[in-house]
Amino acid sequence: MKIRVGLGSCGIAAGGGKLLDIIKDEVSNEKLDISVEPTGCIGMCFYEPIVDVVDGGKTYSYGFVDEKLAREIVDKHVKNGQPIEDKLIYTSDEPAGYVKKQVKVALENCGRINPENIDDYIEKGGYSSAERILKSMSPEEVIEEIKISGLRGRGGAGFPTWFKWNAARQSKGDTKYVVCNADEGDPGAFMDRSVLEGDPHRVIEGMIIAGYSIGSHQGVIYCRAEYPLAIKRLEIAMKQARERNYLGNNIFGSSFNFDIRIKKGAGAFVCGEETALIASLEGERGMPRLKPPFPAQSGYWKKPTNINNVETYANVPWIMLHGPEKFAEMGTEKSKGTKVFALTGKIKNGGLVEVPMGMTLREVIFGIGGGIKGDKEFKAVQLGGPSGGCVPKELLDTPVTYEDIVKTGAIVGSGGMVVMDETTCMVDMARFFLDFTCKESCGKCIYCRIGTKRMLEILEKITKGEATLDDLDELENLAVTVKDGSMCGLGQTAPNPVLTTLRYFRDEYIAHIVDKK
Ligand code: SF4
Repeated sequence: MKIRVGLGSCGIAAGGGKLLDIIKDEVSNEKLDISVEPTGCIGMCFYEPIVDVVDGGKTYSYGFVDEKLAREIVDKHVKNGQPIEDKLIYTSDEPAGYVKKQVKVALENCGRINPENIDDYIEKGGYSSAERILKSMSPEEVIEEIKISGLRGRGGAGFPTWFKWNAARQSKGDTKYVVCNADEGDPGAFMDRSVLEGDPHRVIEGMIIAGYSIGSHQGVIYCRAEYPLAIKRLEIAMKQARERNYLGNNIFGSSFNFDIRIKKGAGAFVCGEETALIASLEGERGMPRLKPPFPAQSGYWKKPTNINNVETYANVPWIMLHGPEKFAEMGTEKSKGTKVFALTGKIKNGGLVEVPMGMTLREVIFGIGGGIKGDKEFKAVQLGGPSGGCVPKELLDTPVTYEDIVKTGAIVGSGGMVVMDETTCMVDMARFFLDFTCKESCGKCIYCRIGTKRMLEILEKITKGEATLDDLDELENLAVTVKDGSMCGLGQTAPNPVLTTLRYFRDEYIAHIVDKK
């Protein structure tokens, strides 16, 4: 028997750390021979603190656990074998709808293993893909398998992963780099943080496989400093991997050398853009540059560099373990596999979910998310953070694929889903996101630096009831100009929240102008 306490950032914030100590004390006082361990985000952040009892292959999950219930779990369930039925949120035999409708690939181990124990990861098949690849596959064969899987970058752009790997492999040079973009900065997004906190070895293994494929011996994880728990668990994981000879020289007894270091980012949103990230890695101010050359040709220290985000690397060990065809079976023709989303805002079951691509927004928000808090009306969902857009209820049956979401004016992005109810003012919402991107603009090009500022001024005028219809026209024109004229993704997507709210909620803008004059 084993007890797991949810200690991702969500569990810790809800008091899980204290519960872990209490349960350990109780178990020790009762001289029970069972392990009590931390685990990462279980996904049901709305139920935290969560305690799982794993007994004979069956998992019993308790939610909203307080000190009294923690002691009861030890006394009644663990000691006397009597689960406390009315406090259970689900069991693995009878999973709740929230769990049943999901398919876990990148989140496969999150909430199921102790992220600080390499043996837990190995027990789930961890590192076996890397070992097999290094001993029996050529880099080209690995890239071919990633191509068959159809994996696309999960950081936002959805670029085919195999193509990037192949481009970096083809680039000439003895020194190449593998970079993991863990600079997740969208308000409302916590997918990458949760993966790193809950299953750091998976990302390390994905990077080893990428390194072997492109011919790199050095990996860097660029992780924002605001993620101290993710960094701590990564450091523990890397130390454990080195001790087992899974990182360093001649890993898995092969001739392949590869190691990873962590670079802490200072929290600039623009450093999620790969050329800005590279500048920051080199100690420069994080500012994007024009492409080409692409990082695969000339990246970190002008060497060929492959950059993927956390979720992309986290998919790789699963693909190589279960076969690329199995991954490609999930999702749609052009958007294969699964996608992790952070469900936040006015949603009942807020948390971390992973679904096959192609599931509709309605199914994610109502089928898994349980619908709107307080049984209010759904109004819209902001997809893709400040770079994304707002999707109204008429489009709730849109499948979550790169292609379909783009048609709505939003983007899948890295996976933030902020749900809004009938009380949300869409003009305020657009102003909030634009205020964010305006402050995060690096200032290098005029369209973004000045354009977002002017747009924000007009939005503020509108929300104060001081704007005219001419201002609305100017806002729309500026939005299109900033989108077309900006150099990098930040400026090119910054107007999206304004453009989508103007498209779907124009009447709210008009109401601000007419009603308050
Ligand atoms: Fe900087 Fe904005 Fe130009 Fe990007 S679009 S380079 S963030 S000023």
